[in-house]
Amino acid sequence: MGYLRPVCVTCKCEMSCKKNSFVVAINKSPKDFVSGDCYECKGCGFKVVTGFARDKTSGANLTAPQYEVWLRAVKNPDNGLTLDT
Ligand SMILES: [Zn+2]
Repeated sequence: MGYLRPVCVTCKCEMSCKKNSFVVAINKSPKDFVSGDCYECKGCGFKVVTGFARDKTSGANLTAPQYEVWLRAVKNPDNGLTLDT
């Protein structure tokens, strides 16, 4: 960890942590999942996910019900997202 939380360049302020364990789905099918922290700027609403865990959860190693739980997490925009590229 550094001295500061992520800083908004526009507002010149530290951003607030909005959600720990924010899940980002990567790769195609089966997807892999990595958890980070979602920060939000109170000034302009800019959001960013950073501070990712070193280890990913590999979709190929999950049972179908476990995989569904992760998929549901990333479909809720408060909890996660799927990387487009
Ligand atoms: Zn801002």
